Amino acid sequence: MIAFDLRCSNGHGFEGWFKDLESFDEQDSKGMITCPFCKSNKITRVFSPVAIKSTKGEEKPGEGKPDYKKLAMGIMEYIKDNFEDVGTAFTKEALKIHYGVAEKRDIRGSATGEEEKTLKEEGIKFFKFPFIKPKDEDN
Ligand SMILES: [Zn+2]
Repeated sequence: MIAFDLRCSNGHGFEGWFKDLESFDEQDSKGMITCPFCKSNKITRVFSPVAIKSTKGEEKPGEGKPDYKKLAMGIMEYIKDNFEDVGTAFTKEALKIHYGVAEKRDIRGSATGEEEKTLKEEGIKFFKFPFIKPKDEDN
């Protein structure tokens, strides 16, 4: 729906709701739009800010779709900065931390499918994140 500010030939201002601009033009050309004050059908549209009601649901102003790629990059940066990279020793280190042999800390690294199974069996909580490695980094 779209609201237009309308004005009749006698200078009365009023608001009219229409499906769209075409709908307004059609009704206006047929003289179907009349002034609620004097019933004049000589209507002109006043070009002032119009209100548009989206049928797709309310969209909060200033809030677009989240940039998932940017979000993922942010998470990757966080992990890079805050988790110690232990590379392929991830499972060994995770087990050491789990059994209190190594210092408790956040680590990141890679694990094979077999190693993941071991981690799960040991009840070690970990999460997999699709870490996009820079091309010059090989580990
Ligand atoms: Zn009027």
